[in-house]
Amino acid sequence: MKNVRHLFDISDLTTKEIDELLRVAEDIMMNRGKYAGACARKKLATLFFEPSTRTRLSFEAAMQELGGSTLGFASAESSSTSKGESVMDTIRTVSSYADIIVMRHPKEGAALAASQRSVVPVINAGDGGHCHPTQTLADLLTIKHYHGRVKKLRIGICGDLKFGRTVHSLINALTRYENNSFVMISPPELGIPNYVQHEILSPRKAEWTTCQNIEDCIGSLDVLYMTRIQKERFQSVEDYERLKNCYVLDAAKMMAAKKKMCVLHPLPRVKEISVDMDDDPRAQYFTQVTNGKFMRMALILKFLEDADKGYCPPPAREVIKNKFICENPACVTNAESDLVQLCTLRDATHNVYRCEYCESKVKKPF
Ligand SMILES: [Zn+2]
Repeated sequence: MKNVRHLFDISDLTTKEIDELLRVAEDIMMNRGKYAGACARKKLATLFFEPSTRTRLSFEAAMQELGGSTLGFASAESSSTSKGESVMDTIRTVSSYADIIVMRHPKEGAALAASQRSVVPVINAGDGGHCHPTQTLADLLTIKHYHGRVKKLRIGICGDLKFGRTVHSLINALTRYENNSFVMISPPELGIPNYVQHEILSPRKAEWTTCQNIEDCIGSLDVLYMTRIQKERFQSVEDYERLKNCYVLDAAKMMAAKKKMCVLHPLPRVKEISVDMDDDPRAQYFTQVTNGKFMRMALILKFLEDADKGYCPPPAREVIKNKFICENPACVTNAESDLVQLCTLRDATHNVYRCEYCESKVKKPF
């Protein structure tokens, strides 16, 4: 099988590549005509085994603005997998007539599994609750465009920091840049998990602190990233009732914020951001949606270009094959039986090995 590069997770891009993607996305924003025919005669397939209209439309609009065309399906019911075809076979078929594939699937690691059968680049547009790298890139572009930089910023991240994977991916991206510091705003039971501390924050010596209330720290922030907080994540209904308003941002709380702070949210919001602040110029969550399209344009250009050049970076870590079984029921290896089990050592200090597909911890594979 031809070696092509794919995008599963923000870790698949070097910092230099992220910087270049940001630069190209900003150039597209300013000179849209220049890119109008950049992908003429190229086809993008959007394979959404799980519906996500927002993300799918953003990719399709991105490809159309580049002069390319799109094909695909919007839910598993409209694909051949509903007739029992495996995801692997679907991918193999589609990759013979598309130049690039964007895929969303409910199983964790599905994009990595699919890439093993694809002769064209596969971009992960969400695999279960696991990774959604283009969302993170859109977040970075919004910060860059608003502040003129992605470094030397104090970033507050508010909401469910334990289960919210977009948050982990954002921390992974922002800790690569110098002098960024973080305030983790959440109830104690929804704080940053150990793996983010041990595998991202500590190795990169990132400065971070915790806070239980937006009001206590908003005045020091340059960026406030809001996420959904779900009632069912709390240990008791009383805790939820007591704490829920601490994590709702409104015009009154914004009074204490810097004039040049920006507010981001991956959308859709439920009640975390009051509509009374939508007209505040610091509210950047709708700009984030537009930026998502520009970022996806830059990404499609880059991955098509790398595929044309035959460029595929070597794996960042040594991969161990078939010496363990991943026990995560949401992992794609538990749904597609002929996949090779893959894992890597992620944290040498604590001897942590993780499944390459879903990143859950696996027992030491020897
Ligand atoms: Zn797994």
